Amino acid sequence: MSHRLVVVGAGYAGLLAAKRLARKLRHSDVSITLVNASDRFVERVRLHQLAAGQRLTELSLRQQLGGTPVQLVVGRVTAIDSTRRTVCIAAAPRAIGYDTLVYAVGSQARLDDVPGAVEHADAVAGLEQATRLRHRVAEIASGGTVAVVGGGLTGLETAAELADSRPELRVGLFTAADDVGAGLAPRARTHLRRALDRLDVSVHPRTVVAAVREDGLDTRDGTSFAADAVVWTAGFRVPELARVAGFATDERGRMLVDATLRSVSHPEVYAIGDAAAGVSADGTPSRMSCQAALPMGRGVADVVAARLAGREPGPVRIGYAFTNISLGRHDGVVQFTHADDRPRGLVLTGRAAAVFKEAVVRSTVRSGARHASGGDEPGP
Ligand SMILES: Cc1cc2nc3c(=O)[nH]c(=O)nc-3n(C[C@H](O)[C@H](O)[C@H](O)COP(=O)(O)OP(=O)(O)OC[C@H]3O[C@@H](n4cnc5c(N)ncnc54)[C@H](O)[C@@H]3O)c2cc1C
Repeated sequence: MSHRLVVVGAGYAGLLAAKRLARKLRHSDVSITLVNASDRFVERVRLHQLAAGQRLTELSLRQQLGGTPVQLVVGRVTAIDSTRRTVCIAAAPRAIGYDTLVYAVGSQARLDDVPGAVEHADAVAGLEQATRLRHRVAEIASGGTVAVVGGGLTGLETAAELADSRPELRVGLFTAADDVGAGLAPRARTHLRRALDRLDVSVHPRTVVAAVREDGLDTRDGTSFAADAVVWTAGFRVPELARVAGFATDERGRMLVDATLRSVSHPEVYAIGDAAAGVSADGTPSRMSCQAALPMGRGVADVVAARLAGREPGPVRIGYAFTNISLGRHDGVVQFTHADDRPRGLVLTGRAAAVFKEAVVRSTVRSGARHASGGDEPGP
């Protein structure tokens, strides 16, 4: 019987891994199955654009896999049986068995940190959530308010995109931090602040949101803000599948892996992307980003192919090159970084940064085949 290789999750990491595995193992007796909750490749890095009313190109996974022997199974994995080595899929008659499993289920918004967020807040972490937010924002009349909670990259991009697309709305950005853009070089931070001013985004630093209401939010210091929509970007979590299956995970549920992305508890299992606690160039856990997901997708294919051929692979290098922040469609900041994610002096701002980011985002999808067969470009 051929070796059964199953990849769960067809996001940036899983899709690239499956395609590269197919190319590397084309002369081996290996079957590759890719299981994904939908038949569409979701460009998560554009979901704030979708929420702001822009149209996204629908990317079919079957088309992305065209010409490869990868078998696509569309369905949500509900459980992994680590003893029987099977994955169960909702509404499917039979579980799928694996000899090698690549776990690539990504991340989701963490909404249960404060009361009311699950019921009343929107998010941009997934396609359905971003689509819901899009409809909600479309219904807000001129002069209405959107409150974006979270001053990280997703919050910044979402607030700027909404303000850019709907200048007649009032957009507020609430962050517990002292300022926005921590971790950026001074020039990048200055540009970021100026851009938010120009877009009329009101920034509320040192503001901890304590509750979300149907008509706004309450802060820890007892202030209430009215809002027609509250967008929660303040935290991400990963699916529970790995932890429930008994794989070793960190406190966030990310699968613990060694330098070759192999589970530290189950040697036949690998994890990549947001759902993996990979090790970055500086020895810290990998940052949830395409910048980490893409090298992990490439790397896991090389590692698994090597082991199936009886060779011991070297470590997978997860290094960063830049932090790329869009500020609406015509402005942005690109902060070039050292491989360990520390900022360098080199910064791109304004239209040049927006063009740079758009080119990187497009190439991430368009060059799937190139990544699958080599390529070392960082993600967006
Ligand atoms: C608005 C926004 C903007 C962002 N901008 C940037 C950016 O500029 N640069 C950057 O580097 N990163 C950015 N990110 C982060 C980036 O999108 C993620 O780090 C990246 O998507 C992780 O890739 P992944 O393959 O691990 O997971 P994902 O892309 O999330 O893919 C996971 C896949 O697994 C599937 N899946 C999940 N659970 C199951 C299940 N139980 N059964 C079957 N399938 C399942 C999902 O349907 C999905 O297809 C952004 C994120 C957001 C939300």
